[in-house]
Amino acid sequence: MVNGFDKSRIDQLPPKTRQQVEDRDRLLGPGYRLFYEDPVEIVRGAGTLLYDADGNDYLDVYNNVTSVGHCHPYVVDAVYRQLSTLNTNTRYIQQSILDYSDQFLGTMPAELGHVMFTCTGSEANDLAMRVARYHTGNQGVIVTSGAYHGLTSDVSAFSPSLGVGVPLGPHVRTISAPDLLRHGGNENLVAVMRREIQDAIADLERHGFGVAAFIADMIFSSDGIYPDPAGFLQPVIEEVHNAGGLFIADEVQPGFGRTGQHWWGFQRHGLVPDIMTTGKPMGNGTPIAAAVFRPELLVEFGRNIRYFNTFGGNSVSIAAAQAVLDVIENEALIDNAKKVGDYIQAEISKLAVNYDQIAEVRGAGLFIGVDIVTDRESNTPDGDATLRVVNHMRRRRVLISASGPRGSVLKIRPPLPFSLGDAERMLQNLDHVLAEELH
Ligand code: PMP
Repeated sequence: MVNGFDKSRIDQLPPKTRQQVEDRDRLLGPGYRLFYEDPVEIVRGAGTLLYDADGNDYLDVYNNVTSVGHCHPYVVDAVYRQLSTLNTNTRYIQQSILDYSDQFLGTMPAELGHVMFTCTGSEANDLAMRVARYHTGNQGVIVTSGAYHGLTSDVSAFSPSLGVGVPLGPHVRTISAPDLLRHGGNENLVAVMRREIQDAIADLERHGFGVAAFIADMIFSSDGIYPDPAGFLQPVIEEVHNAGGLFIADEVQPGFGRTGQHWWGFQRHGLVPDIMTTGKPMGNGTPIAAAVFRPELLVEFGRNIRYFNTFGGNSVSIAAAQAVLDVIENEALIDNAKKVGDYIQAEISKLAVNYDQIAEVRGAGLFIGVDIVTDRESNTPDGDATLRVVNHMRRRRVLISASGPRGSVLKIRPPLPFSLGDAERMLQNLDHVLAEELH
């Protein structure tokens, strides 16, 4: 029920696509997945649009990797100039990484004072957990039941969304996602989360692991997108701190202004994490990611452990990241995320009134989820209907996807320069598709 191409349908693809899918299998092996019933071949991107080989444009309502828009000329130019000048690593003094780090840390509360660079979000979470374990002396990890935090052997062991093929580590416990709809109101949600985290902590202690960290995606993207009520995590974090554990805010999804109003998802919740990790949107497609720490956490770790990451923080990635920060500021993209995101959410909420199968429209800024169910009485997630909507939107050249453990939440997460005009195009298509698919 995930948004992926089903290989048993290969005979229904046009000859060229079929050949490419077979070549992928032959060359890349069986581990890879493609989006959509009819996979899309993309040859070019610009702003919020992607183009196929025939020149058709697709509205990109999904990418937060190219967060400031595909092939943004300012980023392209910065990368080109740096690649033509110097590309080396953190063992040499370079002013650019210092200037960037200063500005980057300046977007955060003062308590977060050191940044360490990696190439991927997975690596950032891996490093964050190493530091958490080193600092606390504990081994246990608590995550939400549908979390994804990455692909290394350590991090995949606390990424339950990878499914039963990737067993959770013996030192990992899960708590429910903050599903307001199904937990029945704010107070109940907070009470349920507090009780579940207490149970998880007690169980980790009983098994001798203790709690190194509670790590959570600050918009609970793979759990099904849960932004509200802002502040609901405070009691959970108090419990973790009381048990000697740390709170790691995974900002790979909501970070860099996507939620509107703030740079970081944790700021919506009025929290200051012990460690923050980010990645995807940081370099507009150039591999760069980071873990950010309260300095006291790194004192011992840094004294005793050498950190060198060949590509992490290389000159070109830093140039890309600097350009991304500049573009977010120069083009007021955080304000745009709020303005356009609020508009989309309000318009989809109006459409939703007509459908018993839309249980909730929720989101923050340009990260919106539409919860699709069999009916509003039972609120049973309906992944099949959601997939029909996603694939029909794709046929109309509007690219969205689905999230949540049953793939039953439409995931609307476009590049940050998404305009009101782009929103109109998306909404008109959604109106048509919902009418056809949810009846
Ligand atoms: N954390 C979250 C919340 C993510 O969504 C992802 C990627 N989807 C990661 C971590 C891992 O990032 P990467 O793919 O760059 O390793």
